[in-house]
Amino acid sequence: MYDAIVVGAGPSGSSAAYHLSRGGLKTLLIDKAKFPRRKACAGAVPEWVFRQLGLSPISDIGSVPIQRMRLFYNGRKCEVDLGCPYVHIVDRARWDAFLVGRAQRAGAHFVDRCWFLRAWPRGDAIGVATSAGDFACRYLIGADGLRSTVRTMVAAPHRKRLLALGMYVYRRPSGACPIPEGTIDIHFDGPRFGYCWVFHRGDSLSIGVAGSCLALDTRRAKAVLGGLLTELGSAPALGAFHLGFLPIGHSFRRLARRRVLLVGDAGGLVDAYAGEGISYAIESGRIAAEAVLRHGGRSYAKLCRRAFGGRLNCCLALALAVHSLPSVFKRQLLKPSLLALYLNTVRDGRSYGPFLAALFRAAFLGAVAPEATRQAPLHEATHLGDQQP
Ligand SMILES: Cc1cc2nc3c(=O)[nH]c(=O)nc-3n(C[C@H](O)[C@H](O)[C@H](O)COP(=O)(O)OP(=O)(O)OC[C@H]3O[C@@H](n4cnc5c(N)ncnc54)[C@H](O)[C@@H]3O)c2cc1C
Repeated sequence: MYDAIVVGAGPSGSSAAYHLSRGGLKTLLIDKAKFPRRKACAGAVPEWVFRQLGLSPISDIGSVPIQRMRLFYNGRKCEVDLGCPYVHIVDRARWDAFLVGRAQRAGAHFVDRCWFLRAWPRGDAIGVATSAGDFACRYLIGADGLRSTVRTMVAAPHRKRLLALGMYVYRRPSGACPIPEGTIDIHFDGPRFGYCWVFHRGDSLSIGVAGSCLALDTRRAKAVLGGLLTELGSAPALGAFHLGFLPIGHSFRRLARRRVLLVGDAGGLVDAYAGEGISYAIESGRIAAEAVLRHGGRSYAKLCRRAFGGRLNCCLALALAVHSLPSVFKRQLLKPSLLALYLNTVRDGRSYGPFLAALFRAAFLGAVAPEATRQAPLHEATHLGDQQP
């Protein structure tokens, strides 16, 4: 019998398995895919995550550092260079395999190509049926992503209106590259309730679109992406594209029932504004392990709310404000001090409260966001222009 079985070996599952094993629990980590596996994801991970894991993002993971953001809206552009990376672009196959290896080194037993089928109460334990046979455990961790099967034991499936869609292609930079290295471009003019992105990944460009499923379906996403490719001087035919869905996160979701805990996308823990889910996956995996080790799993939802509930709710408020009143808020986001405050907030995993407050003050009181400069002390933003492109 295992102390814990973790279903899904993405960042949330590996993080839970790592911490459970380090805490001395006999842990089984399973995934239906053969590892290393691919995952539809732009792969932007905030700088603080690497600091917290004690990793060097470039030498350990081979990630691409990003220190500059260019924001485009309504014929205007704002560019901020922090002078140091605020996110790193990881290759998900490599990153996820690295995190699985870390969990294995801590003592977790990992089996890939193993499907979770169902679970049932078995005395004091939980019976677990998988494609590799039946097991028993005391705690079951659902880390099986957006379409989680474990989730059905805790809450209803994610509803379509609370999902976002992301679609992207890779292009080799050729001729005059439309974007300098170390840069992310965000285009706010594309879809309603979403945005387009261009990342420089070193050897290729990631060009994509993301937005709420209320306003964006696959057909519309293809049209928006084709238009952006044409604008960038690339062939508009998409060819092989990557498509995935994300839950829109907030702090009011049910995350646990008895000894079954949901982490990462299975729990719906994704930032509604930027679509950042990797850091929440890793955090929730760590917190689930802590809750199991210290309190028999009971405090899990409370600990999550305390750790990042406020951040998730601020991101939801930000997404609603920016996309419902674009002419008010998107215009404000073109202010370098506000953009720098946002990037520093992402970089350090700080509360989004001060950023949101500064944004609303700028929008409704015309304030030049004194907070913005006060709250960005770690690295002064270099304002490289607020120009017509
Ligand atoms: C287009 C797109 C772009 C994104 N870009 C970013 C970004 O730039 N930055 C960011 O932070 N986040 C991004 N995200 C979100 C991010 O990818 C997710 O939040 C993150 O992967 C969640 O990790 P997880 O471990 O919860 O789930 P996943 O990474 O989805 O892992 C779930 C695992 O469970 C396994 N599994 C599923 N069902 C079963 C089963 N029945 N039995 C066994 N195993 C099973 C799957 O094979 C999978 O390996 C993006 C998402 C999309 C769709």
